[in-house]
Amino acid sequence: LKANISLIKTEEKDFSGIIVVLHDVTEQEQIEQERREFVATVSHELRTPLTTMRSYLEALSDGALEDENLAPQFIKVTQDETERMIRLVKDLLQLSKIDSQEFKINESTVEMLEYMTLIVDRFEMTKGHQFVFTKVFPKHELNMIIDSDKMTQVFDNILSNAIKYSPEGGEILINMALQNEGLIIEISDKGVGIPADSVEKIFDRFYRVDKARSRKLGGTGLGLAIAKEIIREHQGEIWATSKEGKGTTIHIKLPIARYKGGAMK
Ligand code: ADP
Repeated sequence: LKANISLIKTEEKDFSGIIVVLHDVTEQEQIEQERREFVATVSHELRTPLTTMRSYLEALSDGALEDENLAPQFIKVTQDETERMIRLVKDLLQLSKIDSQEFKINESTVEMLEYMTLIVDRFEMTKGHQFVFTKVFPKHELNMIIDSDKMTQVFDNILSNAIKYSPEGGEILINMALQNEGLIIEISDKGVGIPADSVEKIFDRFYRVDKARSRKLGGTGLGLAIAKEIIREHQGEIWATSKEGKGTTIHIKLPIARYKGGAMK
């Protein structure tokens, strides 16, 4: 809170009163501070892959290039880091679009059983040898008004996390149910889980439980932050429940106003 105090003088008297103006600067300052922190974090996040690449390229030019064993490994590291940086910049651009008012959702009616089946099948095709995907869907069709491209991105991020953070493989359960308040979709894994004090933070930009692990798996720390914004644009909710060492469930609720009926299958 900022206070401006002025003394009031009149012709006759030197002093006739005080005006106190109180400004609520806290919100403005907080936004400004968050912005500064964000720029600092982004710079750091971009510098890390660049310095890694620089040292591997230096090693290559200092002789590792001639080493049959080392050269392919070092080149692979620089390729992976380049890919991750491209993903990072792509995610950042998307977040900046979301933050500016340009972000519009492109709504259409989507039948969710078919839609979710397509998304899950795509993962099953590439990861089916390591994971069992179980779908628990209702018996009737579910027509929902959503932005199908943006929601696909949400489910892609959540499903790839379920895979990334489940080193032993295991079952990934996709549960969909219509309730009074809305459509609930839950994606559960049997992976490493999340410590209790981090469960709420995983939707924050650049927050990772284990930075090194996330980086090694090609993560940017922005997937769930983007998911949260897309769900917010749908007036929905997203949250996580988890037990360390046992697994994680990501819950999504889409408002009932988006439900447009559906026949029995
Ligand atoms: P990242 O690119 O690091 O995966 P995300 O925004 O997708 O970024 O997730 C943020 C963090 O939340 C991850 O780094 C990880 O620590 C944690 N996390 C997300 N999903 C899971 C999951 N299914 N199991 C365990 N931890 C998870």
